[in-house]
Amino acid sequence: MHYFKLKGKYLYCEDVQVEDLAKRFGTPLYVYSQRTLREHFDKIKKAFKAVSPLICYSVKANSNISILKSLVSRGAGLDIVSAGELYRAMRAGCSPKKIVYASVGKTAEEIKQAIKLGILMFNVESLSELAQINAIAGNLGKKVDVALRINPDINPKTHKYITTGRKETKFGIEIGSARKVFLKRDNYPNLNIVGVHIHIGSQIIQVGPFIKAIKKILKLFKELNKKNIKITYFNIGGGLGIIYDREKPQTAQEFSGKALPFLKEKGLKIILEPGRFIVGNAGILVTKVLYIKENPSKRFIVVDAAMNDLIRPALYGAYHKIVPAKKVTRSQGYKVTRKADVVGPVCESGDFLGKDRKLDVAEGDFLAVMGAGAYSFSMSSNYNSRPKAAEVLVKKNRAYLIRKREDCRDLVGKEILL
Ligand SMILES: *Cc1c(COP(=O)(O)O)cnc(C)c1O
Repeated sequence: MHYFKLKGKYLYCEDVQVEDLAKRFGTPLYVYSQRTLREHFDKIKKAFKAVSPLICYSVKANSNISILKSLVSRGAGLDIVSAGELYRAMRAGCSPKKIVYASVGKTAEEIKQAIKLGILMFNVESLSELAQINAIAGNLGKKVDVALRINPDINPKTHKYITTGRKETKFGIEIGSARKVFLKRDNYPNLNIVGVHIHIGSQIIQVGPFIKAIKKILKLFKELNKKNIKITYFNIGGGLGIIYDREKPQTAQEFSGKALPFLKEKGLKIILEPGRFIVGNAGILVTKVLYIKENPSKRFIVVDAAMNDLIRPALYGAYHKIVPAKKVTRSQGYKVTRKADVVGPVCESGDFLGKDRKLDVAEGDFLAVMGAGAYSFSMSSNYNSRPKAAEVLVKKNRAYLIRKREDCRDLVGKEILL
């Protein structure tokens, strides 16, 4: 569900014509629909209403401070993984008391800073990190809340690069070690070990793996309860899949329907960390057709966006729908029925946005790469010395520039000429 719709010949974002935005702000251009992202946030909130969870939007999915603010002002907390994301969270006006902090490699400096700011809790990913936080908290004379990120060893049935809850991945603490930590929690006098965190992967389509993981953790809670160890927080992570192509992911309602019976009984405080679910379909990447190139064996549509703007196709073989910003039927010299690869200007064969697409476009037309709200701009780079794209947030019939297009001075701004 999203608010990018064809009205007549033209693609709209809410009440704004996408082609107009491309002409006004230039391309490549990220365009986001505030209504779409807010409605997705509301959907999760509503689905889990029975346990009134803290919903910590996962900043890494799309970290623009205006996107963060759109959600924070609606009551969202934030899930962060670095000092940079902590900085963004503060700039977006998020209360530290709604910030949870994961990452397998938090530095001492990052930990110190987050403690001083008074975040809600760290999601701790190793025993060494636990000792480190305990020591830093001691030095600062503070008692710090933490959750243990447990790796439940569950296969989420998604792409292996976005699988995070199997034992061979680097994430979290294995359940046996976590149990020992709880039993020996007195070894960490400066910590309150108040919760358990899981996050088993991303773009998960079926509800089964989530429930399996939740059940595994609840079994541990039961064991600990018998030993009079009470857990306050259960952070069930993010990972809800969305529709890019023909996926049929569980809805928030289906997910909560299956999960709530387990979460309700326990009287736990529930935290959720959706990223992609909220912002994935709330963004598109608009790009201009530079050249159409016909080889005997292949047709290419060369566009001005590239893998540095959107790396998901190259990195995961991810599929993004690509549609013209203005729908026209042409009968020019090429056969529309001939499929084309949509490629960028970067010097890599992996630089494609789509393969074998039937697109009736001419040079100078604009295309919209759909489903580019999550892990798109946030993963972009300056490879091939390409300045990063601009970002625009649409609210009803108005469009706001939320990130200026970079220029060549930005590219070398931190460099030192010897
Ligand atoms: C990336 C991440 C998320 C968000 O995942 P989505 O698939 O975008 O919902 C949540 N929690 C943690 C710890 C993450 O690393």
